[in-house]
Amino acid sequence: MTMASSNESPLKTALSQLRRAVEQLGLSENDWNTLSTPRRLMEVAVPLRRDNGHVEMYKGYRVQYSTTRGPAKGGIRFHQDIDLDETIALAMLMTWKCALTNLPYGGAKGGVAVDPKTLSLAENERLTRRYTSEILPIIGPERDIPAPDVGTDERNMAWIMDTYSVNAGYSVPGVVTGKPIVLGGSLGRTSATGDGVAISVREALKLRGIDPTKATVAIQGFGKVGYWAAVALEKQGLKVVAVSDVNGGVTGYKNVAEVKAHLDKTGSVVGTPGTSPLTNTELLHLAVDVLVPAALADSITEASAPGIQAKIVVEGANAPTTPQGDAIMNDKGILVVPDILANSGGVIVSYFEWVQDKQKYFWSAAEVIENLNEIMMRATKEVAEVASSRGVTWREAANMISVERVAQAHRLRGLYP
Ligand code: NAD
Repeated sequence: MTMASSNESPLKTALSQLRRAVEQLGLSENDWNTLSTPRRLMEVAVPLRRDNGHVEMYKGYRVQYSTTRGPAKGGIRFHQDIDLDETIALAMLMTWKCALTNLPYGGAKGGVAVDPKTLSLAENERLTRRYTSEILPIIGPERDIPAPDVGTDERNMAWIMDTYSVNAGYSVPGVVTGKPIVLGGSLGRTSATGDGVAISVREALKLRGIDPTKATVAIQGFGKVGYWAAVALEKQGLKVVAVSDVNGGVTGYKNVAEVKAHLDKTGSVVGTPGTSPLTNTELLHLAVDVLVPAALADSITEASAPGIQAKIVVEGANAPTTPQGDAIMNDKGILVVPDILANSGGVIVSYFEWVQDKQKYFWSAAEVIENLNEIMMRATKEVAEVASSRGVTWREAANMISVERVAQAHRLRGLYP
């Protein structure tokens, strides 16, 4: 699933970034072989009885890219364009993200190739439960812990938790994260990825000496990541000048709450009263301080990167930038906070949720935010230090730190038998 007209494959991009990290770290060919190979791939057929009685078949996937540093962890996406290759790429990114933030997890990703907008609520529930039942043998709180991603939310997580628990014979809240609070979800999880994006923006602005209360930001994608990032950034005093969704963008509103109200009413940000429309490409090219791509992969490409005027790009989405787009932004001197750092807030608070579920002891919202801040600040500091000491970009630094951690875990565990 890619945006724009680019024919980059997210897997090719992810592998080329890994190759670079392996070379920069001076790792061996053995390391490359173990690091570049996904460990478990599951493709399942998911039959769905539609409300009208027709039975349709959908393809479902679950990829456990790595379990070297702990159970696999990663989101579940419902989107018509997903395929195995993209799911592998996203599972690889999760592996580096968990290593960079030092969470005791490997990396995973999964999903169903379906447009959830075409499903009734009852159909969505049946599809979610059947998909869960197909991947049941490989998930579990000690094996692989799914979470929401594009096209899924806490309702889907509740159905997954229930399907798994019914099969186990007792409640197993720790099998998924991003659950409703009453089922063992964590305070702060809903907004966590957006809050983390805002932490990354705050730190990058500090580094560039820009006063947040005078800074402007444009956000592409107004879903779970983009919306909550917008809310947090407004709280930090930034002016969120434009937001967009799959239908296009808007500018000229008073605050993002107005846009959200229109979205809730109509299903799109487009047409918010009193706003002017703009295209997604126009949004990318606005003269703002900060640009946050928070929609899908391959948004910043050879074609779209040259027009970017922002000084800082904070990747809310996974893999929003192609290698060519990345090179162009580097030439322009743009500070790019890479996805595995910038959007790690979601998996960090997912980790907190899993810990709380295991301990049956729940934290306050303030504790969640404080711990999220601490982990993201530590990771940001490490990335900035490696970038400056090795003379590499933040993306390269982040990849080097995480790939080294996974390689080290491989070496210490050794090869069985
Ligand atoms: P979502 O489904 O809640 O929202 C996606 C948003 O992107 C929607 O506003 C949608 O209209 C918009 N969009 C879709 N296609 C678009 C297009 N072609 N052009 C412009 N906008 C488009 O999804 P989400 O959970 O917010 O995820 C967004 C990105 O962030 C994904 O790359 C996801 O993998 C990543 N991410 C999500 C989380 C999380 O906790 N949800 C965590 C880390 C990373």
